[in-house]
Amino acid sequence: MAQSPKAILLIGDGLGDRPIASLGGKTPLEAANKPHMDRLAKEGECGLMDPIGPGVRAGSDTSHLAILGYDPYKYYTGRGPFEAAGIGMDVQGGDIAFRCNFSTLDDNMTVLDRRAGRIDKGTDQLAAAVDGMQIGDITALVKESVAHRAALVFRGPGLGADITDTDPHVEGAKVHKCEAVNPSDAASAKTADAVNEFVRRSYEILKDHPVNKERIANGLKPANVLLPRGAGIGPKMDSFETVHKLKAACVAETGLIAGVAKYVGMEIVHVPEATGGLDSDLVAMAKAILKSLEDHDFVLCNVKGGDVAGHDDKPEPKIQLIEKMDTMLAYLIENIPPDTHIVLTADHSTPCAVKDHSGDPVPIVFWGPGVRTDKCEKFDERSAASGGVCRIRGIDVMRILTNLMAVQDKFGA
Ligand code: ZN
Ligand code: ZN
Repeated sequence: MAQSPKAILLIGDGLGDRPIASLGGKTPLEAANKPHMDRLAKEGECGLMDPIGPGVRAGSDTSHLAILGYDPYKYYTGRGPFEAAGIGMDVQGGDIAFRCNFSTLDDNMTVLDRRAGRIDKGTDQLAAAVDGMQIGDITALVKESVAHRAALVFRGPGLGADITDTDPHVEGAKVHKCEAVNPSDAASAKTADAVNEFVRRSYEILKDHPVNKERIANGLKPANVLLPRGAGIGPKMDSFETVHKLKAACVAETGLIAGVAKYVGMEIVHVPEATGGLDSDLVAMAKAILKSLEDHDFVLCNVKGGDVAGHDDKPEPKIQLIEKMDTMLAYLIENIPPDTHIVLTADHSTPCAVKDHSGDPVPIVFWGPGVRTDKCEKFDERSAASGGVCRIRGIDVMRILTNLMAVQDKFGA
């Protein structure tokens, strides 16, 4: 039986950069020793990729949406729904997702501490105490995240997300009343009323919770309320498998990327050794990719560390991360099933000099059966500009890949 087509999409978060004086005018990709990335460039077809469009400064979430084949201008409603999905919540189209803080309130609804003394344990029990709350025809789903953070999802008919925040963002101020930005927007007005009810009832339930009684007894601030903010409506999206006819898994280091992948129906694979930093065990991630490839057609992997180094203006650690990714890639090339395609790219540039995402394009290489090998021999920003893929957008990536994998329907007769 013929091997079914397989592909790995390996994304180095924020890997693109600009020339750096301390590196002799090279970018970190140009300065790094990365023979396996360069092998891909030599044997594959290279180009430059604008995640959203030329000059557009992409977020990691919007870029991943585009690269996976979903127009972010159509589907992106804010990070809330993807963050909630990223901590394992089931978020559906039409749900309203919020980021929340566990905070400390007094009886007059004054915020004494926005982070409840930076609570770091027991939030699972507190979240469970309010999870499933019914507010009219709305069900409130709550799950704890890291430290004092949590996510809230409202599910019910006719909800809207154009509402104000409850979190006053300063201590000593009263909780803000949630309101629809436009009073004639009935869906948002309904949601705002439910948010106010949720805040009030979460305080009633949490103030006497055993976790908080114990905190008070130990001189700690109680986490006696949940304050939602950043409401976003869950976009209605077809699954990745429906769109591309590929059964997909995701190995990611950040909740936001895992959330995007989960939202489009990918299986999320957790790698305990993946830290999201420069110390992450990337070979452990490579092993997880290979394992996932046994029962999936497509594996998305995001390696976060390069973005962290870019935000921190640390060219040398960025080079080290690139070299670690090269070792990871070597392990993948050595162990992939025959005829597997690999796409290597970044989700945006995070130039050290900018310390944030820029709108500069990133290098991309397609490698595997059928590619038209070009003259590009190195995987970096300037070399890739000479490749046969030329300059594409993120939204083109899956089309080019599914063409190479021969799983795409013909457009027309
Ligand atoms: Zn990113
Ligand atoms: Zn970033």
